[in-house]
Amino acid sequence: MKITDIKTFLMHANVPDSSGWRARNWLFIKVYTDEGIYGVGEGSGWPRVVETAVRDLAPLLIGEDPFEIERLWQKLFLAMMGHGMTGVVGGGALAAIDMALWDIKGKALNRPVCDLLGGKIRDRVRLYPHAHSAERARELVDRGYSALKTGGVSDPLAKVEAIRREVGPNVDIMVDIHGPPWLTTKDAIRMGQALEEYDLLFYEDPVAPEDVDALARVSAAVNLPIAAGERHAHIWGVRELIERELIDVVQPDTGRAGGLMQMKKIAAMAEAHYITFAPHDGSLGPVAEMAAVHLCATLPNFLILEHLEDDVPQRYEVMQPQPTIENGFLRVPDAPGLGIDIVEEAIAHYPSDGNVSPPNLAEYTYFRARDRRAAWLHPQAPSASDEFN
Ligand SMILES: [Mg+2]
Repeated sequence: MKITDIKTFLMHANVPDSSGWRARNWLFIKVYTDEGIYGVGEGSGWPRVVETAVRDLAPLLIGEDPFEIERLWQKLFLAMMGHGMTGVVGGGALAAIDMALWDIKGKALNRPVCDLLGGKIRDRVRLYPHAHSAERARELVDRGYSALKTGGVSDPLAKVEAIRREVGPNVDIMVDIHGPPWLTTKDAIRMGQALEEYDLLFYEDPVAPEDVDALARVSAAVNLPIAAGERHAHIWGVRELIERELIDVVQPDTGRAGGLMQMKKIAAMAEAHYITFAPHDGSLGPVAEMAAVHLCATLPNFLILEHLEDDVPQRYEVMQPQPTIENGFLRVPDAPGLGIDIVEEAIAHYPSDGNVSPPNLAEYTYFRARDRRAAWLHPQAPSASDEFN
């Protein structure tokens, strides 16, 4: 079998709210072969730029045997040396291609991808959606979810208080601070300590991911499991976090960590340090999600998978068949390959119209205003002012 062509499918997948996701895109690819089998994949890490990277890399794959996934990965990785080699754009292109090659191999062998990655140790994968209010948390728990993530860069503590009061002690809650560049390490520690009484499943990205020593300080001072890794690519991106045991949960992004082989290797590195594995899925479309489901089904240290079920109406319009989600778990497909396909006609209804959101520069001054910082750390305390500069 030989690879004959690669096509890319970029689509607009904006979340219709006022968050920073106003210009979100999803990038899907198809890798075709001379035997009529094709594979689908998805790459994130700045999808419009990743699309160009995939097209640049495509000529290196034409005529190659799609079964030789590790060799082809190394070939493409070395081809990116002149572009800096690491980083999530290259990681996104490799992720999309690697995913499609696994899909081809599974279809050709008539086995689901999870069988090729070591075989299932579970038939369904536990999911967690996002909740930013007590009402939303109640709705999700009533739909069967037993784990929820909240947070954001404003008022995470107030959200956790409200959600814990609403859902009670038996629902897992996670908090994501998103590692903003304006947050001091001491404030991240104070926030983590304030969150300890809510017994979180994990405290995610309390500091900017580049600041590994700050993460070490947070990890030493806060008695909660610490999660990080969504903004890193490849095994080398998370190596120090794992080797120094600065985290308790590693969160590679299935669309930009470099592919399912890289994810499997990251999971093995983590397993050797008793670190759990909970892939990031917050900006991804449905193809990467299903690829993550196949991988997570095989991992002894799998913890939980992020899942955005109704962020955009088109989420599952662009994929067939529909996923089976029951009581907060997604069933692992047993059809050959990834067990899903993209719907090109549906994708064409959502043309990409930009992939950069204007940042909220006011956030940079947010925590430098003493009263706003106090309100963040002590949501019940009256704020001296609602205005800040
Ligand atoms: Mg996150």
